[in-house]
Amino acid sequence: MKNPWMMKGPELREEALMQTRKQHGRVVTYVVNRNANFSRVCSVGCSFCGFGKRPGTLGATSDTIDEVVGRVGQTPWVTEICLQGGIDPGLTPEYYFDLVRALREAFPKMHLHAFSPMEIDSLCEKAGCEPEEMVAKLRGAGVGSIPGTAAEILVDEVRRKISRNKLPVARWVQIVRAAHRAGLRSSATVMFGHVESWEDIRAHFTVLRLLQEETGGFTELVPLAFVPYQNRLGAILARRVGGIRVLEEKIRRRARRLYPLARMVLGDVIPNLQTSWVKLGVEGALESLSWGCNDFGGTLYEESITKASGGKHGERLEPEVIEAAIRGAGYESRQRSTLYGRAENRISLVEKSCQPTTGGHLAL
Ligand code: SF4
Repeated sequence: MKNPWMMKGPELREEALMQTRKQHGRVVTYVVNRNANFSRVCSVGCSFCGFGKRPGTLGATSDTIDEVVGRVGQTPWVTEICLQGGIDPGLTPEYYFDLVRALREAFPKMHLHAFSPMEIDSLCEKAGCEPEEMVAKLRGAGVGSIPGTAAEILVDEVRRKISRNKLPVARWVQIVRAAHRAGLRSSATVMFGHVESWEDIRAHFTVLRLLQEETGGFTELVPLAFVPYQNRLGAILARRVGGIRVLEEKIRRRARRLYPLARMVLGDVIPNLQTSWVKLGVEGALESLSWGCNDFGGTLYEESITKASGGKHGERLEPEVIEAAIRGAGYESRQRSTLYGRAENRISLVEKSCQPTTGGHLAL
């Protein structure tokens, strides 16, 4: 086979689609999940982030445990809660453990996909312990898997440019390895469309491949397009390239190459490639199904991180809307669990429409 890195765009996308069909047929999966972003306070200050607020500044607040439980209770039909927040120096490790236990108790059937490697790094520092001990404690409290976020680009030189205080590559790998070894699987992510080169993306993919060959713990790869509208990095890059429209186009072009490359380069060890309707929009996400993606992501119901950076594609999609979109594009849609098994507590749309909801809408 030709080297995918050397292929031209149309050939690369065609090969990636063929590879996806071999691995997944026409099935496109999705998960019924809910984000709970419990803290906007963040002392890290990534230049690409519009979400985190410096401690003590306007809007820098963290939720109480009751508030988080209350919000999750608005969507009792979800199978997964994705818990992530800023790095709030004021939140103790006990807050995290109590939050997990409270959610476990209130929603015993929901899978807890919780805390990025950056959050676990900060928890280790606060508790004075090693990642192995911290992931064991989180697992003991009820965490089921972790998001592989805070990866951005796994090249220290790039990380220093976009977020000086972010954990280094070796620490990210150490924490994810510890989680996988403790039985906590994770997603893998890559944030693209900013200052990274194709060589950086290649290096990032190599880190993921080596770790996956060692632990087998990644459930999927989720490429995340940089959202440039309301953050420092977006403003700088837009000025540098000649305006926001030029930058948008650059990000779109990068997406059209990165997704098929991910399928071709990593598909044999990480078979699930997830698109992101929050970043690309529903139309863009459907288009990416022909670039190697086999998973549509989740319903989300609450999305603060992309929205805070000026994301334009909303924060919730009902399961029936996702299913209709997937089927409308000629694929077979299938609800999955977080770990890509059968969704255990799948409920019928009739049951769901009878569940109490506060806020938001049902698209039935
Ligand atoms: S990306 Fe995460 S760590 Fe970085 S500033 Fe935003 S909330 Fe904080």
